[in-house]
Amino acid sequence: MNIGFERINPVPLYLAGTTQALLNAYTWTSKARIVTDFKTELKRNLRTCQFGRCCFCRRLLYDDYAAQLEHFVDKDSYPEHRFEIRNLAVSCGTCNVKKNGYFSKWMAGYRRLTNNPNAIRIPVFSIQLNSGAQFPTNSADFRWVNPYVHNYSDHIAIARGWVFTWHSPTGRRTVRGLRLNDLAEVELRALKEKLEMRGGMLSMLVASMSELEVHRARDIARVVAKVITRRRNARN
Ligand SMILES: [Zn+2]
Repeated sequence: MNIGFERINPVPLYLAGTTQALLNAYTWTSKARIVTDFKTELKRNLRTCQFGRCCFCRRLLYDDYAAQLEHFVDKDSYPEHRFEIRNLAVSCGTCNVKKNGYFSKWMAGYRRLTNNPNAIRIPVFSIQLNSGAQFPTNSADFRWVNPYVHNYSDHIAIARGWVFTWHSPTGRRTVRGLRLNDLAEVELRALKEKLEMRGGMLSMLVASMSELEVHRARDIARVVAKVITRRRNARN
């Protein structure tokens, strides 16, 4: 399947006159112009670099609302990297929510294990990143596929029907941590809704043809049959 991009390259730049140090004087949610301009421009840039796709699942982000600026390393654990560009990519809402959920569970488990309620350790790092240290750029420092340092297809493969497999432990952790294989059901539900919107049978069949690139033929047939049955029942 078309994954759009292997990794984000080159790394987008800060706007002229803006630096990470200047931005760090503000919170992530600040309404200061320097912060809002940074976010707007970076998001626009990243959408282009990422060919309009989510940095994790590679689904198309159809509109700006669906695209979220995602911190690879969460900003609560590492606030000093909240404006680090290599820590920011555009993701879909589903991946964003799943990643946050996984991070919270992981951190809670780590704190129980170490018996330290303030311990900081996140699942995407293979290193302990100390306060004040530079943001890592070495692929070995990451346990998950990082959109700036790893070539996606070296670690993860996506087959039609949104079936994710992996070529490395890094890929396996990413697919499992983000529960990427759950997307197959989400996408089939979306397909059903899309086809329901089509008025006539011919229009629906033409629409389903264009889905062959991302969905398996047998899944499309199953969804089309469901829509037809539902329409028939509604008529009777
Ligand atoms: Zn996604």
